[in-house]
Amino acid sequence: MRPALMAPFVLVGCQPLVATQSGDSGPSTSSPVTSPTTTARAIPQGEPEEAREYRAELIRSLAREIHDGRVLDAMGRVPRHLFMPRATVWRAYVDDPAPIGHGQTISQPLIVAIMTQALDLQGGERVLEIGTGSGYQAAVLSLLVSEVYTIEVVSDLADEARSRLQTLGYANVQVRDGDGYGGWPEQAPFDRIIVTAAPEEVPQELFDELAEGGILVIPVGPNGWKQRLLRFRKLNGHVSREDLGPVAFVPMVPGTSAR
Ligand code: SAH
Repeated sequence: MRPALMAPFVLVGCQPLVATQSGDSGPSTSSPVTSPTTTARAIPQGEPEEAREYRAELIRSLAREIHDGRVLDAMGRVPRHLFMPRATVWRAYVDDPAPIGHGQTISQPLIVAIMTQALDLQGGERVLEIGTGSGYQAAVLSLLVSEVYTIEVVSDLADEARSRLQTLGYANVQVRDGDGYGGWPEQAPFDRIIVTAAPEEVPQELFDELAEGGILVIPVGPNGWKQRLLRFRKLNGHVSREDLGPVAFVPMVPGTSAR
């Protein structure tokens, strides 16, 4: 069986900003942010031609690692450049993490694809995401499942992501401003849970809020390069654990939830 994580290098989720990430140069120097005139289900209309070309090239490169065609199709329909308004269009389709403000980053597209594929989505799921950030991962999920619930601890990011997702037509996503350690008990159980910041240990609440037959994908470990991407499955009340490889994410910060 093909391993879930093919890349022999450490994949970068969203990591603390370093000076080199400000290098936002490339073939395009303009940053036209257009207002899409479409619903989120279709390829955005009215976007710059270059965005379509760069996105298609990115998807071709992801297809070397990712075998789930639905994941590639969804990522091919989400205008990543509109989730990183301060970057050039070209930069938005490079397979790198990038700054989104408030010291946070949008994850590298390959890790978004790997984590989404690892969720083994069939369609129709209710999904919880911890770490909304720009809202990009939530938008990708929105095209693949029935409901997305996403929690962001930085209020400004939560507000920006909520209005961005609404403007772009991702109507099945709900954004909550708050601490994800407690999950979202009012909406539990979830068929899938994805965490895009790394706690040192998996919060027990997330296991509790996972439905029978559910899958949890989460980076776990100390800040730095020692984190592992883990996949848990809950079957007959028993939780199994699988290690999908090394990753680098920002730490999941303790918020206000009692732990
Ligand atoms: N999924 C995002 C990228 C995530 S970056 C995207 O697609 O853009 C990780 C995010 O997790 C950051 O925005 C950070 O503020 C958030 N975060 C960190 N600790 C958290 C916590 N305890 N609860 C909720 N969000 C948290």
